[in-house]
Amino acid sequence: MDYPEPLAHESLLVRRGRRSGLFTMVAVHSTARGPALGGCRMWTYDDARAAVRDVLRLSRAMTFKAAVAGLPLGGGKGVIMLRPDEPTLSPERRRAVLEDFGDTVDALGGDYLTAEDVGTGEPDMEVISSRTKFVTGLASGSGDPSPWTAIGCEVAVRATLERVFGSEDVSGRRIAVIGLGSVGGRLAEMLHEGGAELVVADVDQSKRELAQRLDAQWADPLSALTADVDLIAPCALGGVLNDDTVPALRCKAIAGAANNQLADDSLEAQIAARGILWAPDFVCNAGGIINICVELEPEGYDSARADHNVRVVGDTLRTIFDSAAASNTTPLAAALELGRERLQGG
Ligand code: NAD
Repeated sequence: MDYPEPLAHESLLVRRGRRSGLFTMVAVHSTARGPALGGCRMWTYDDARAAVRDVLRLSRAMTFKAAVAGLPLGGGKGVIMLRPDEPTLSPERRRAVLEDFGDTVDALGGDYLTAEDVGTGEPDMEVISSRTKFVTGLASGSGDPSPWTAIGCEVAVRATLERVFGSEDVSGRRIAVIGLGSVGGRLAEMLHEGGAELVVADVDQSKRELAQRLDAQWADPLSALTADVDLIAPCALGGVLNDDTVPALRCKAIAGAANNQLADDSLEAQIAARGILWAPDFVCNAGGIINICVELEPEGYDSARADHNVRVVGDTLRTIFDSAAASNTTPLAAALELGRERLQGG
């Protein structure tokens, strides 16, 4: 996704870990609204340039995600760069590189707060916390963000249905959930509890069990994406809305957790031209960072406050849909404009 850039990155720290010999890096895009929060991605890259490009891109996206969600946080990201010749680490090597990453985070003195992301989880955060206090999402804090991302997504689905059909009620609505992982699985459960009729898909056949439990129709991922339903919720990988899939869509709305759903930003106009409302992914999936933000409040973490704050995702989306309609633009353009205003102190 191409985010506008009112601010250049504040810092980029790349260090070769003294324990692991692997590169760990942190990019701080902006601390204009608060410390830069963003997950630590452990991923294999062909070379350091690709990893640096990724950490710069992802940290900038976090600035906009936090600003649009109205959080007192900036945008940052961490990357642990695995090499193609060692894509999986032994437990000892994993611990070593996590400790190296902890040192890199600590060197920024609190400008960057880390969290889990693709390739890292709660146990990894515990290891990182042995080297720095600038870690979020520990079991003693806000914990696993996924259930909160799912709650935010459910609220987003309802706000999107309301805009298209005049009611946020999910009962009797046909909804396709693509990807039944930590977020999609929980989202599907909540939609089922609300009375929705589900079509679900996952590349992992073991998820059929959940489908059965939810009385959901099992489909392959492409059939689910192009099913004749009211709304699709992409909750697997990015890039699912592309030149091949957009012309084949039969839904009226799209709202889901997957990051970077649009293979290219220009596809949003094509989706809109087909009469389909797309709720920007980084607005729908902000529940996880909203929950983390609660642990940074002076009162400390409290799940009731987290629940209240995560549900604000619905109002944020309504504001975005309203301003897109008022200025005859798309939800993505309206969301980015809202982010820009908030970064400038609005
Ligand atoms: P996950 O790894 O737990 O689940 C992903 C699921 O998608 C898995 O069940 C996997 O088998 C399935 N999958 C993979 N490829 C697929 C394909 N081509 N078609 C259908 N299913 C496929 O991940 P998650 O934590 O549930 O996250 C889902 C998406 O939401 C990701 O894009 C992630 O970046 C985004 N997201 C997650 C969070 C969070 O709090 N976990 C927060 C923000 C954004």
